[in-house]
Amino acid sequence: MYDRGAVLSLADLVPTPVERVELMPQRVALWVKRDDRVASIYGGNKVRKLEHLLGTAHDAGKRKVLTVGAVGSHQIVALALFGERLGFEVEAVVVPQPASEHARTNLRVALAHGLRAIPTAAWSLAPLVVAARWSRDAVFVPLGGSNVRGSLGFVSAARELALQVAAGELPEPDEIVVAMGSGGTAAGLAAGLEREGLRTRVVGVAISHPTSALGVAARRLAFATARSIGLGRRASVRAAMRIELEAGYVGRGYGFTTDAGTGAIAAAERAGLELDPSYTSKAFAAAIARARSRRVLFWHTLSTVPLPAVPDVPLPRALERLLR
Ligand SMILES: *Cc1c(COP(=O)(O)O)cnc(C)c1O
Repeated sequence: MYDRGAVLSLADLVPTPVERVELMPQRVALWVKRDDRVASIYGGNKVRKLEHLLGTAHDAGKRKVLTVGAVGSHQIVALALFGERLGFEVEAVVVPQPASEHARTNLRVALAHGLRAIPTAAWSLAPLVVAARWSRDAVFVPLGGSNVRGSLGFVSAARELALQVAAGELPEPDEIVVAMGSGGTAAGLAAGLEREGLRTRVVGVAISHPTSALGVAARRLAFATARSIGLGRRASVRAAMRIELEAGYVGRGYGFTTDAGTGAIAAAERAGLELDPSYTSKAFAAAIARARSRRVLFWHTLSTVPLPAVPDVPLPRALERLLR
């Protein structure tokens, strides 16, 4: 019943595998949910959200998708790639983020695949610019794709995991450790786990400041998502309370590296996993520490599908200025 409205099938490689990973120097073992390869054109955690978000847009006969995000963010490149494939016009209000090769590549790919980027000097101005760009034929996809509709993608993901547990592919985890940016992934998982009757908790590893606001937003979204799939008020509160905020790995903030994160990237690489500096490195560092005393499932939220090749042209000046 939670599948009201259209759902597009973008995640063509589900169920994503769960793998047991042993980290030798750290002498810990954990499981990894390989959503980094959830779809053949682009992986990571935006894909399951977009199945619902773009499904709704498609159903409503919208031609245009308007979003907002950091200029080199995964959400923007994901939306550009899937939007182009589905015939949407994709426009994004983009705000500054620390410069990195990763961010620059994301932006270059998004632009090559039809993104119209509206450079905006600061987060505080973004709502005004969004309001100015919005039109009736457009659907708005919020920051990180995190609203109830987007989170429904991770309600389905929780069912996918429950089936894998039931099939003996992994033991029931004590907790899922996941990078938390706007909270939609953690919220959908929490609501889905509550419905599936698993005991697994969700540890959201904050990757930006202020971390406490992130925890509150994720729990509110978990509650709203749980209500929307028909769970009662008390079950929905329990869903929200499954989310634990881990605020100890964020460092200076969004897009800044940390020593723990850099160590986690190296540890993961030895185990054959690819991580990024902004999100998954911080979450994996937390996962390693927590796996010493708990059965941890690390939810891999980065796309590790090779990006389409694009010409190495200079970025427009107004966009280049946002990477600093
Ligand atoms: C967007 C993103 C996240 C954050 O997910 P939320 O659902 O917004 O909390 C985590 N990891 C990666 C790699 C992302 O691109």
